[in-house]
Amino acid sequence: MNIVNARLRGREGLFHIALDGSQIAAINEQPAVVSAAAGDLDAASNLVVAPFVEPHIHLDATLTAGEPAWNMSGTLFEGIERWAERKALVTHEDTKTRAKKTIDMLVDHGIQHVRTHVDVTDPTLAALKAMLEVREETRHLIDLQIVAFPQEGIESYANGRALMEQAVELGADVVGGIPHFENTRDQGVSSIKFLMDLAERTGCLVDVHCDETDDPQSRFLEVLAEEARVRGMGARVTASHTVAMGSYDNAYCSKLFRLLKMSGINFVSCPTESIHLQGRFDSYPKRRGLTRVAEIDRAGMNVCFGQDSIVDPWYPLGNGNILRILEAGLHICHMLGYEDLKRSLDLITDNSARTLHLGERYGLEVNRPANLLILSAPDDYEMIRTQGHALVSVRHGEVLMRRTPASVQRG
Ligand SMILES: [Zn+2]
Repeated sequence: MNIVNARLRGREGLFHIALDGSQIAAINEQPAVVSAAAGDLDAASNLVVAPFVEPHIHLDATLTAGEPAWNMSGTLFEGIERWAERKALVTHEDTKTRAKKTIDMLVDHGIQHVRTHVDVTDPTLAALKAMLEVREETRHLIDLQIVAFPQEGIESYANGRALMEQAVELGADVVGGIPHFENTRDQGVSSIKFLMDLAERTGCLVDVHCDETDDPQSRFLEVLAEEARVRGMGARVTASHTVAMGSYDNAYCSKLFRLLKMSGINFVSCPTESIHLQGRFDSYPKRRGLTRVAEIDRAGMNVCFGQDSIVDPWYPLGNGNILRILEAGLHICHMLGYEDLKRSLDLITDNSARTLHLGERYGLEVNRPANLLILSAPDDYEMIRTQGHALVSVRHGEVLMRRTPASVQRG
């Protein structure tokens, strides 16, 4: 199969992309617009990019909002309480059905790589076992990384450490954590040392829910970054949320940034989730409750956007469309300057792939997997401005999804 009349990010002109089975065989400049041969795809002078990436979601919790009760306060902490009630009703089939339904929503929006956090603070590890099956059963749709995520703590939950170890033995790809939720500061610190040891010993990646609170005293990011720096693991480590950074004073943050840069860790921000959950203890002025996305990016560090929730106890909306998150994030993070807009897709493609440590399994280059999207606009700016879509998703050299754009008639 070939894709003709493709525009590529950061390059002038039109391109012809040849796929050979499940690999990209060639990418050549095209002197003029051509008509597509039978069996080929016509990008119609629009962008062709590597698939969108969802770097942070909770597929074991999606599609549960209101079961058995809605989160009335809108806080993160009531979300954890409501989830504990729903968790008591979770079954193997229930988890698999909801996760697969959500994966279909992600696929319909051009996502082919997903990192999901799965709650392992459950003595039976039921959700994890279900998600390990989902990972295998959906390989034709997405590449799924599973994070062993201790929602109710590692040190503060009975047998928390053993459950984390068991989760990795069973097949989790990534070690998670939630240091700001542990009962004490000391437990938060020891949980990070424990999870970094576990990852180093087993070769897992690391992705920690870190400082997801407006409390400016929540400073576990420095602990995580220092552990990553000393062990030389930065490229394999991600700090998710880090929203307390939005409340740190600038003097502390300036010192912190020096360490963050030396550590080489990655960052994920979930802007719609954070703008909804944080700032809940403020009257006015009211904090945005997000990490310093633009500043992290300007400092040359790696940051990307994720959805976090789709219709769960923490966030009642969502439809799988990460472009919606990108648009909201650019607004919330003061990133509507043209320089940011014209490379904005980095935040849901290349930066996210780096966070997931995908290496040569990702990217629009010869000899890499034939996974790509045809978008509805010619550049990043127009994709955002027109609220564009992924129109075609190709995976392993075959069409996985086609979307017909809405059409408008007058009169
Ligand atoms: Zn999360």
